[in-house]
Amino acid sequence: MAKDEILEQVLEEFGKLAKIPRKSGHEETVSNFLRDELTGLGLNVVQDKAFNLIADMPAAKGREQAPLTILQSHMDMVCVAAEGVAYNPLTDGIQTVRTEEYLQAEGTSLGSDDGTGIAEILYILKHLKEHGPIRVIFTVDEEQGMSGAIALSEEYLKGASFLINCDSENWDVLTIGSAGSVNLDFSRRLKRVAPTAGRAFCLELGGLRGGHSGERIGDGRGNAIRTMAMLLKEISAKGMAELADFSGGTARNAIPCTAKAIIATDLEESVTESCVEDAKRRFMAIYGAAEEGITITCKPHQHPVSVLAADDKERLLQLLTLLHTGVYTMSQVVPGLVETSANLGVIAMTEDRVEVQFFPRSAVDEQVDEFRLMAEDMAALTGFELQIGAQSPGWKERKDSKLAKLMSSIFEQQNGRPMTIEVIHAGLECGWHFKKNPELDIVSIGVTTLDIHSPKERLVLKTVRPQVELIMETLRRIGEL
Ligand SMILES: [Zn+2]
Repeated sequence: MAKDEILEQVLEEFGKLAKIPRKSGHEETVSNFLRDELTGLGLNVVQDKAFNLIADMPAAKGREQAPLTILQSHMDMVCVAAEGVAYNPLTDGIQTVRTEEYLQAEGTSLGSDDGTGIAEILYILKHLKEHGPIRVIFTVDEEQGMSGAIALSEEYLKGASFLINCDSENWDVLTIGSAGSVNLDFSRRLKRVAPTAGRAFCLELGGLRGGHSGERIGDGRGNAIRTMAMLLKEISAKGMAELADFSGGTARNAIPCTAKAIIATDLEESVTESCVEDAKRRFMAIYGAAEEGITITCKPHQHPVSVLAADDKERLLQLLTLLHTGVYTMSQVVPGLVETSANLGVIAMTEDRVEVQFFPRSAVDEQVDEFRLMAEDMAALTGFELQIGAQSPGWKERKDSKLAKLMSSIFEQQNGRPMTIEVIHAGLECGWHFKKNPELDIVSIGVTTLDIHSPKERLVLKTVRPQVELIMETLRRIGEL
């Protein structure tokens, strides 16, 4: 087969998927479509209650003794549109645009994460001749809460020897471990009182780099919420300062790059301004190596109708300065890898309630446990309620992974250079698979997709063929292991 035929046929499979809306939590239609596709290929298909699909392809003749290998991807996608683009992710498919280098979408995310993973697997099932027994697992809801991987019955993971997860983002990187995490939500009911101070100011903080809390936390970037909390503490130390509003951050797993607060105070403008200058200086002293700058504006503001009772303000600022944010420990095993971190991700305030989203991650589950226990004490000490979400397990790297060894050697034969082997400080469904079957030898790979989860998401076309060839050759040779 001509080399570019692989790309063309994978894109054809992808094109069928792109037409089907498949936002996380709304996968019934795509699940039914893929169930029929897999059934049509002669596989024995199970659709579970969560709409996960599990399909078995028997070994080719003479290869029945080869170990059972799982190929896994997720069906859902992050649906976002550029400003001004009309897009209803529940009813609209994706309009793809192809250039010489990329496949992208018309003003929306593409869903290459993880539609390309599924398209590749369908291609492989149709074309691979020499292989042992293969099980395909397509999960739902990876992007939102991994509820598909959580719900997946362990019976489908037991009995298999290897699992290839096709949900990573760089064609030449082999991932062999990932971090676990837990969602921690602090909240407190607020009492409001009439302000007594004479002036009001709006403090706005920006110019920070932000970024994904799994990928970028090791860079030492600044946290806008923490910085604002420190500034408010400093202003309060100088004299009376009442807090009317405090907001910042966009997502638990994103380092917050903006924060805003409205205060009422009796302090002279020159005093608040010197606090702001001091906050900037302190910010650069702590984060200057990783940040280019910070802007903090302090502008006169309309007098607020109400402010937080003094005790509420005090306790909120205590919580925001006590919670650890940033790197906590580095790995003693993998040089340069962040082992444990936490991100103070979001603060949101209404009339009578404040909520703070906090997100620890670790490669070591016991460290996530420790953060959970610390958060319980912190909540008790500061008078906050704490809601503990599902704890997702880490996927611990296996130093003697036979699968990683085979795949990296095949990659080197095919591409003339070694594959980068990585453990990542972010979450993957592999954590759940590993928890359900710790014997499973797992790797995660993926075609190169840039700017995922954004309207600029684009698939690098030239990475498709080598990725498919890597998986196919691995499946042909897996009997050697
Ligand atoms: Zn994904």
